Amino acid sequence: MINKNNSWYEKLENAIIDADIEMLFKLLLTVAVDEWASDIHIEVYSTYCRIRLRVDGILEELIQYPPNIHETIIAKFKIESWQMRSDEKRLPQDARVSTVTLEWKEIDLRANTLPTVHGEKLVLRIIDKSKKIPPLKVLWIEWINAVYLDNALKAPNGIILTTWPTGSWKSTTLYSALSTLNNDDVNITTYEDPVENKTDWLNQSQVRTDIWYSFASWLRAALRQDPDIIMVWEIRDEETLETAMEAAMTWHLVFSTIHTNSSSETITRVYNMWAKPYMLAGTFNLVMAQRLWRKICDKCKVKYNLKKDNPELYRNMMEVLSSMKPEHIKQELKLRWISWSKWTEFTKEWIVYVGSWKDSETWEVCPVCNGWWEKWRVWLYEFMEYDDKLRQKILDWASNLEIENFALDKWMMNLERDGVFKVIKWLLNPKELYRLVKHK
Ligand SMILES: [Zn+2]
Repeated sequence: MINKNNSWYEKLENAIIDADIEMLFKLLLTVAVDEWASDIHIEVYSTYCRIRLRVDGILEELIQYPPNIHETIIAKFKIESWQMRSDEKRLPQDARVSTVTLEWKEIDLRANTLPTVHGEKLVLRIIDKSKKIPPLKVLWIEWINAVYLDNALKAPNGIILTTWPTGSWKSTTLYSALSTLNNDDVNITTYEDPVENKTDWLNQSQVRTDIWYSFASWLRAALRQDPDIIMVWEIRDEETLETAMEAAMTWHLVFSTIHTNSSSETITRVYNMWAKPYMLAGTFNLVMAQRLWRKICDKCKVKYNLKKDNPELYRNMMEVLSSMKPEHIKQELKLRWISWSKWTEFTKEWIVYVGSWKDSETWEVCPVCNGWWEKWRVWLYEFMEYDDKLRQKILDWASNLEIENFALDKWMMNLERDGVFKVIKWLLNPKELYRLVKHK
């Protein structure tokens, strides 16, 4: 959920009351970048207007404003963009703008307007150029997931896929993984849309569908460039999937993303693109699913009795634990550095932790998180490893569900399992966990 309990939000409300449009845009971009939003929607209806942000794939309302200032907002943006005509309101228009937020983060905007019955709607896609590639070790990939990822990265060839509902940031884990493989003796070539981070050690190529520079034509050219590792922005059609699989079969390591919700759903998705089981079994190494979550602030976190306050969530989490083998739980606790006292506090006293935004000593706004209480974004992970037994299941035409259950039984940490351990470790609010994942 968007955090509205902070000073930026109050300033945004004031900018609307004062009709200070310049300030409104500056604040809007700052809040959106802080929230890791991928898009801003500025919408007009008959009796009200609203601004929504797409965060982690989900559209959420940020604020409403009266329709009488809507035209000024759109007009102001058009003038500032230098690329849109302010007198043209009947046709859609596009613009690309480079700017900075109030926190001096450099961003690019892809803007477009669309005429609707009540006025023009403006959508801004945000590309945050200040985002650096984080090292793998800070991404909270814990124990067995880290082992699966390590196995996949050590393989000489095959496909490593990440799945993602919609929105941005899907590729961050892939870039971090690629950076661990970067060496003077490997040639890494990528095909991206758009190239968000220009990086020195990668040979990055920008998608250009307008001049028919497609994945297939890029790959044919890239394969002549003697690559070891290839990253393709997204597998969205049969041709791309087929070419990626061919590259994996001819001794290349291929990284890509695919638009599904879970690692097991990916199997159906590739069958729908006419892949055969033997191709899937022969090329896939690892399929990852991930969701952005907000880490609780260490400074202002407080205890909270989950069983009393939300018995259903507590029951869900206990069910998750009882679906796992005791020896796997034991290892996860040990290698995720979860102390025995944290474990018993959860299982015996039903205690979890949440952020409170207030400094417990002074009762002022928390100095560490500035009252955001869940500010730091990281990922929950689900890694499905394609080992020989799972490959055999695929060759035997097992269903999605059978494969998922087989993997869970073998010790796959799905998103929910990973989240439960992060709750026990005092990193994640259980309500935030069940906002992101459904209980299985
Ligand atoms: Zn705090």
